Amino acid sequence: MEITLALIKPHVVRNTVALRHLLDLIKDNFQVLESKEVHITKQLSEKFYAEHKGKFFYNRLTTFMGSGPSYALILQSADSIAKWRSLMGPTKVYKAIYSNPDCIRALYGLSDTRNACHGSDSTESAMKEISILFPEFNMT
Ligand code: ATP
Ligand code: MG
Repeated sequence: MEITLALIKPHVVRNTVALRHLLDLIKDNFQVLESKEVHITKQLSEKFYAEHKGKFFYNRLTTFMGSGPSYALILQSADSIAKWRSLMGPTKVYKAIYSNPDCIRALYGLSDTRNACHGSDSTESAMKEISILFPEFNMT
């Protein structure tokens, strides 16, 4: 079994029908170990997205993440990292729409920044991201 950190971004959390749809989809595919609505401030999102510091979209992304509550989940399943990233679809929404119209980013993404959701890309980043958003979670 593997765990991953999933985030539903602020514009989707504001859309209650979309949020309910995604939570149902998640429950059908994963065991949810932890979940909470969390307002990731601009400052906290700068830490969360530190690997992107210096990129042209960094300020845009961290400002957007600070614009309202997100929904964070720790998901468990076989291959949860790859499975959640496959459900999300490509980072860029226009590619998501063409390659897989049913993926989450095709359905709820609005732009390259407001692409609906986040998923850890490795075990190492899952551990780091979980420790930032769920500091009380026991990883062992
Ligand atoms: P995530 O890390 O959110 O799961 P990802 O691993 O598919 O997505 P990354 O390259 O890690 O993509 O980018 C992190 C986030 O930065 C993306 O989810 C998106 O919100 C934003 N981003 C990435 N590339 C761009 C871009 N070209 N323009 C605007 N925003 C971008
Ligand atoms: Mg990433």
